[in-house]
Order: sequence, then structure tokens, then C-alpha cells
Amino acid sequence: MTQSHGYAAQDATTPLTPFRFTRRELHEHDVHIEIQWCGVCHSDIHFTRNEWGDAIYPCVPGHEIIGTVKAVGSAVTKFKPGDLVGVGVIVDSDRTCPSCKAGEEQYCEGGTTLTYGQKDKYGDMTQGGYSNNIVTDEHFVHRVSPKLNPAGVAPLLCAGITTYSPLRHWKVGPNKKVGIIGLGGLGHMGLKFSHSFGAHTVQFTTSESKIADAKRLGADDVVISKDRAAMKKEANSFDFILDTVSAPHDIDPYLEALRRDGTYCQVGLPEKPPVINPGNLLFKRRSWSGSIIGGMRETQEMLDYCAEKGITADVEVIRIQEINEAFERVVKADVKYRFAIDMSSLGA
Ligand code: NAP
Ligand code: ZN
Repeated sequence: MTQSHGYAAQDATTPLTPFRFTRRELHEHDVHIEIQWCGVCHSDIHFTRNEWGDAIYPCVPGHEIIGTVKAVGSAVTKFKPGDLVGVGVIVDSDRTCPSCKAGEEQYCEGGTTLTYGQKDKYGDMTQGGYSNNIVTDEHFVHRVSPKLNPAGVAPLLCAGITTYSPLRHWKVGPNKKVGIIGLGGLGHMGLKFSHSFGAHTVQFTTSESKIADAKRLGADDVVISKDRAAMKKEANSFDFILDTVSAPHDIDPYLEALRRDGTYCQVGLPEKPPVINPGNLLFKRRSWSGSIIGGMRETQEMLDYCAEKGITADVEVIRIQEINEAFERVVKADVKYRFAIDMSSLGA
């Protein structure tokens, strides 16, 4: 077995604390990665606090992982020791269903295995990246360019691909008007990508203090969503709106902002489902949709795109010992715009 240690939630209400555990021996397609950086996603908080109702403890969260390959199994072809690599939200899928064959493993009909908080096919609980190492099948490991700041690359493994994938799927680009709701970890990456793809991009935020940053990050316009008059001015004008909000909120004012045939895409996953007025869909043939992370091929495409364009997340670097304060700040929407944990702070 591989000895591992990290920070885990032991239940839904107490702080994360140091935790020792084991990971499986290397199987032939496995890669052993020493973890250097891990981003802090709001999903880590929803999950460890059992806000989605499916937590299993103890749980080491973290699915925005950057590290160096230390060892590879006998059949590994993609990686060698010393390579800089990334692991995101899923570490397995059935590989045989139509979604997997199409390279959309995140929609696997047989069910995906999440990087933490689930039993894998060997019967072990998966544990995430707030730890010193991980053992994962090479199919779910990505090449990372050493040209970019690795702390800022870590959040690309979840926040990056979760926003890149729907923006590509709905063909966001020049001559499109796109809205991004919420300027947090996902939102600021959605803003960077939409701007980079050439769309006219409007940032919706509840935080007046973020207006200047939104413009710096690529927003052509910023709308304070609590300002009803400002929201009304946007009516019937958007081709696509991406909702990255982590808490329950009113969706109807944004549906009204879509033009005929426009699409509202949900990537935020608050603990309570929203209620909408169907009239806002049918009178303008608008669509209300959702999207989850991205497939392995598209995740690599996104990482390569970021390396080519010099795109990374804006991060606040923390030590693992600061993780509980960091969670509180994420909940208060007070992070600019993703925490990245320097895993060397974990020690031996
Ligand atoms: P985050 O960094 O906390 O950002 C969420 C943003 O939402 C905040 O910065 C804030 O932006 C806005 N917000 C927060 N509370 C609000 C409220 N009560 N009303 C209106 N706006 C509010 O979170 P994240 O890590 O980006 O994750 C966002 C959501 O996506 C979470 O629910 C997470 O679980 C989910 N997620 C989904 C996927 C997927 O594959 N679909 C992947 C990762 C995460 P402003 O200050 O600008 O208003
Ligand atoms: Zn995430």
C-alpha cells in the first residue's frame, strides 16, 4: 500500500484536521503523483459539509491537483517519472458506454468515480488532493505545461474545464453576447475564457467591490444583479448565460435577459433547487440547461489552450493549516478568485 497523509473532514460540522490513510499499490495503468498544489473548490465545501446529502467520512477533499509523477505502472504509456501533471474531478468511468466512447467520460452511463468521497472499483474510498500523493489511472491524468505558474494551473482542473466546456459546447465567440453570473472561482475562469473566445462578455455580480476586477479580467460590462433597473435594461439581449453561483438565488431575472432561443446554463450547484417561471422559457423558446466539468480529451485541450494563451486562475496561495479559514472566506464570496494550497506546507 502507499502511505498518504492530508487534511480530512471527519463529519459535516467540525473543521478539517490532519489524517493518515493508505492508497492502493500501483496497478499496471496507474500513475503515482506527488502533489504540489491543490485548488479549493466550493464543491469541497458543499461535499464535506454534506450540503448535497451524500458525504462519506473521513473525507480528504480536493480535485484541482497539480503534482509530479514519481512512479508509473508497467503498462503506462503517457507519462514518466518527473512529468508535471494534473488530476481533476473524476478518476474513473466505465470506458465502454456511448458517452465514454465519445470522450465525454463525465456523463458516463455506468457512473463516474469522483476523485474523493466515493468507493472505486477496487472497493476503496477515494481521497482527494488535500494530501501528499495520489495513485490514479493514467487515462484520468493530464499533461501540464511547465511554462505556467502551477498554483494558477491547479484550478483549471475543475473551475477551468467546468466553464470552458459549456462555452465551447454552445459555440461562444465573436458576435455573441454572453453573461457570466458570480465572480468566484468558476466565474472568473468563465469570464477569462468568454473574453478570450471573442464574445461580448457581461459579468453579473452581487459584489460592487468586484467591478474593477471584473473589467481587468475581461468584462466588457458589469451588472450589479441586485439592481433591478440595471437588470431590466439587459432584457432579451443575451445569447448565452452561464450561472456559476453556489447559493440559492432567483433565476427568472436572468432568463428574461436571454434573447429568443437563448440558453441559460447551470454549472453552479446550490444545495436547494431553484424555482423558475416556465413562462420565461416558452414565450421566447429559451433553454435552461446544465453542464458538468468536461471529458478527458477536452480537459487536455483546455490545458493546452491555456498554455498557448497564458491563461491561469488568479490565486491566493495558502498553507494547508489555513484551510478552515479559507473555507469560511469562500462561503462569504471573499476570495480573489481561487485559493491554491501549497502542499509542501503539509510536511512529512
Ligand atoms: P465560489 O468561488 O464560492 O463562487 C461563487 C460565486 O457566487 C461567489 O463568488 C459570488 O459571486 C456568487 N454568490 C455567492 N453567494 C451568492 C448568493 N447568495 N446570491 C448570488 N450570488 C452569490 O464557488 P465556485 O468554486 O466557483 O463554485 C460555484 C458553484 O459551482 C458551486 O455550487 C460548486 O459546487 C459548483 N461546481 C460545479 C461544477 C460542475 O461541474 N458543474 C464544478 C465545480 C463547481 P459575486 O460576489 O460576484 O456575486
Ligand atoms: Zn470543483
